[in-house]
Amino acid sequence: MKNIGEIRDLCTGCGTCAAMCPREIIEMNVNRKKGIYEPIIVGECDECGVCIKVCPGVSVDFRELNREIFGYEGEDMLLGNHEACYVAHSTDEKLRYNASSGGMVTQILIHLIDKGIVDGALVTRMNPEKPLEPEPFIARTPEDIIEAAGSKYCPVPANIALREILREPGKYAVVGLPCHIQGIRKAEMINRKLRERIVYHLGIVCNHTPSFMATEFLLKRLGVRREEVTGIRYRGDGWPGSLKVETVSGDILLLPEYWGSGFGQLFKPSRCRRCCDHMAELSDMSFADPWLREFEGEKKGKTLIVLRKGLGILDELKDEGLCQLQPLEPDKVLTSQLYNIYMKKKIYMIDNELYKGRFPRIDFIDRLISLFEPEKLKIPEKLMLKYVILYSILVSLKARRDFLR
Ligand SMILES: Cc1cc2nc3c(=O)[nH]c(=O)nc-3n(C[C@H](O)[C@H](O)[C@H](O)COP(=O)(O)OP(=O)(O)OC[C@H]3O[C@@H](n4cnc5c(N)ncnc54)[C@H](O)[C@@H]3O)c2cc1C
Repeated sequence: MKNIGEIRDLCTGCGTCAAMCPREIIEMNVNRKKGIYEPIIVGECDECGVCIKVCPGVSVDFRELNREIFGYEGEDMLLGNHEACYVAHSTDEKLRYNASSGGMVTQILIHLIDKGIVDGALVTRMNPEKPLEPEPFIARTPEDIIEAAGSKYCPVPANIALREILREPGKYAVVGLPCHIQGIRKAEMINRKLRERIVYHLGIVCNHTPSFMATEFLLKRLGVRREEVTGIRYRGDGWPGSLKVETVSGDILLLPEYWGSGFGQLFKPSRCRRCCDHMAELSDMSFADPWLREFEGEKKGKTLIVLRKGLGILDELKDEGLCQLQPLEPDKVLTSQLYNIYMKKKIYMIDNELYKGRFPRIDFIDRLISLFEPEKLKIPEKLMLKYVILYSILVSLKARRDFLR
């Protein structure tokens, strides 16, 4: 591959190439047919190869990156390297209510900025001018951080904001999905400025990013045209939260717990179906929802945290009364994400050469399960729900047998 213009279906849309191109000739554009971001080359390329070197879409060497980041290769094949796991929430009730889970990502970033530990944080808000487009940016105040709270269930080229980190000296935190963090780590391998300036990597656990078609589908369900939208929040207002759409006529429309239905699977980009990293294994800390029976009645929200590199920040937050923090067994974390981890570590890894690392052994039954993926079969619409439930039960049983001690 001579440059990123030839990447096609391998692109994760992360934006790392656009930020790192020495000639600044790569732009991230929305492919309207697929509803995802793709890089395009807008100038003369000298084929220096940087865009391919930093691309997490073409390959990721987890062995090498784990050695670089943690000093040793990945030991836990399912959760990635970790020191401890927690369930936590911010003690700021408003912040917690407006965030996706327990507001821990937002709370940690505010603390880092307030204490002067970082000068800014790479986060993503929805663009105030174009409300259906995400806007990655470097937040430098607690107000900016709060504006960016909440999960964006649409494609986000977050890493284009690395440009500002390269331009402006200082210390930074970054927040990203697993593919964003992989891109950042690969870029740090070849760029000293990034390596020195980025001191916190906060990873958002991710099953997949729904394409823009998913948002279009939801707007249709709400009976709203895209031109009418003045604001969108994919989650918030407690846990698990609602989709909230504001329109020019001043209406506020809510769709509660829409994403829990698994509908996003229908809008999964093809590259997400080849991803092995659900848990953001290359981050310093990963953040997720606690999908566990004991939290079923939860209304305010809690964040599940996998602490990979002990930077002391969680204890600081707890000591200052900024969060409630309880240790959690790693097996509980695994249980809460079991289905997705099984799919990514086994089913999506069948005949997949994109990653180097340690993976669980794929057996005959895994291969059989892969043949019956709902997306691969032509199932009549009226039977789809029953089929998906049956398939999920099968996957969960196999995953429990293989992964839980
Ligand atoms: C696309 C996507 C898929 C997810 N899949 C799962 C899953 O399968 N299982 C699970 O348990 N959890 C999943 N999550 C994580 C979960 O929704 C919460 O983000 C996580 O629990 C942290 O919650 P919080 O309240 O601590 O974060 P908050 O305090 O709400 O902060 C969230 C931070 O993430 C940043 N952010 C939001 N969306 C994006 C994005 N698309 N790209 C880059 N940065 C972003 C925001 O800028 C903000 O700083 C997913 C999140 C996303 C965005």
